[in-house]
Amino acid sequence: MCGIVGYIGPRDATPILLNGLKRLEYRGYDSAGLAVFENGRIAVRRDAGKLVRLTELIGQSPVSGAPGIGHTRWATHGAPSAVNSHPHTSNNGRVVVVHNGIVENYLRLKEELSSDGATFQSDTDTETIAHLVERHMATGSGLAQAARKTFQEIEGNHGVVMMS
Ligand code: GLU
Repeated sequence: MCGIVGYIGPRDATPILLNGLKRLEYRGYDSAGLAVFENGRIAVRRDAGKLVRLTELIGQSPVSGAPGIGHTRWATHGAPSAVNSHPHTSNNGRVVVVHNGIVENYLRLKEELSSDGATFQSDTDTETIAHLVERHMATGSGLAQAARKTFQEIEGNHGVVMMS
């Protein structure tokens, strides 16, 4: 389990998230990423490696806005790689999730979601959370309610932050 930072407020989330992740570096991690709400869309930057790599990536391809969420990953399911780094996004691009922990029943959930049409981009257990939340929102739940329903479906101990 590694680190999660979230920011809601009037300022640009990007430097706040990077600073927060920096403060969590001592916990150890293999990848880092963030998502911010930028011009009406969720923008994600993430990569394997140290935070300096994420900072470089954002230098090359800046993002700004709020709210935002950030994550340092210690891989349990799926190799440390850009595609397995958090945040993970649902197929419609409207739900983005960072997660510490293990979705113990992710294989069964992944099978069910795949047969229901979800396309998985990563090898992580975490991505199931994004797809489950998207599905609950598609049947009329708001984000909070969709999250609560999802938490009843996933097994294990979790720290999760998400936005839509
Ligand atoms: N199980 C998740 C993964 O492998 C989260 C790992 C963590 O807690 O950083 O991506």
